[in-house]
Amino acid sequence: MRKVFHFDSPSGPYVADAAVLCCFDHRISTAVRKFLKKQGIERADMIIVAGGAKTLASPRNDFEQDFILEQVRMSIRLHQTKRVLVMSHSDCATYGGLAHFNGDRDAEAEHHRVELLRARDLLTASFEHIAVEPYFVKSDGVWLVNEADHGQSHSVTDAGRKLA
Ligand SMILES: [Zn+2]
Repeated sequence: MRKVFHFDSPSGPYVADAAVLCCFDHRISTAVRKFLKKQGIERADMIIVAGGAKTLASPRNDFEQDFILEQVRMSIRLHQTKRVLVMSHSDCATYGGLAHFNGDRDAEAEHHRVELLRARDLLTASFEHIAVEPYFVKSDGVWLVNEADHGQSHSVTDAGRKLA
């Protein structure tokens, strides 16, 4: 091997502050990073895949869902993860983008809210002793999905609590 870059990374074992499942869409990467910092999450096991929470809520195949569940299982086993953040975002290409909802942001948010709750329920049913938090990322910030709104049709203003 030939060294091509010098950087001193932390060594030794660590306990993860959270595992974070989110989409690889570059447009949300800065918002997610800053949100995690604001949440005090410094050591995150990042599970970054196309669609994020969609891989659990509406997987393209069983392999995809099993693979992501295994990633969470590994984070819990290896880094004692107790907190899991599941995220999806507006205009995600894996959902056909905002165009799939004919540009209706409320309809898109409602669809994602249901998806995120389904992903959360799958995780809480699969693993004991973890707290799962569902978040929807929009171009103006990160929104916490509100359990109380489950099954109702709301604008995102009502359905989520803005955090950042
Ligand atoms: Zn996406």
